[in-house]
Amino acid sequence: MDSRTLDRISTSVGRLSPGVTEGNQITLSEDGAGWGWHVDPNPLDSSEFLPTASATEFKAADGSPAAGKLDLLIVLIHELGHVLGMPDTASADDSMGGYLTPGLRRLPDAISRPCRRI
Ligand SMILES: [Zn+2]
Repeated sequence: MDSRTLDRISTSVGRLSPGVTEGNQITLSEDGAGWGWHVDPNPLDSSEFLPTASATEFKAADGSPAAGKLDLLIVLIHELGHVLGMPDTASADDSMGGYLTPGLRRLPDAISRPCRRI
C-alpha cells in the first residue's frame, strides 16, 4: 500500500446505508443507518464485546454501550478496504462482508489476535 493513498482519504456524513466509498471518499450515515453508532473510545481492547466461536468476531455484552448499535470501527475498516481496492465479499465472517449486524464487531484476523489476549 502506498501511504499517499491514506493521505488522500476524506470522510463526510450523510443519509444512507452505514457507509459508502467512492474513490477515496468515505461517506458515513449520520445515524448508523438508524441503529446508532457505537463509537469506541478504546477500540484496541474491544472491552464492550465478548468472544464468540469465531476468532474474528465479538458480540456486544448485554447492557454494553455497543449493544444494538453499529460498530463504527468495523464500518471504517470495511470502507478503508474499499479505498484500498478490496471488493465486498459474500462471507459473513469477513471484514469485507457486505452485511452488518448491530452489536457485532468483526475484525480482520491480524487485528483480532491482540484483542483475544485481553
Ligand atoms: Zn462494502
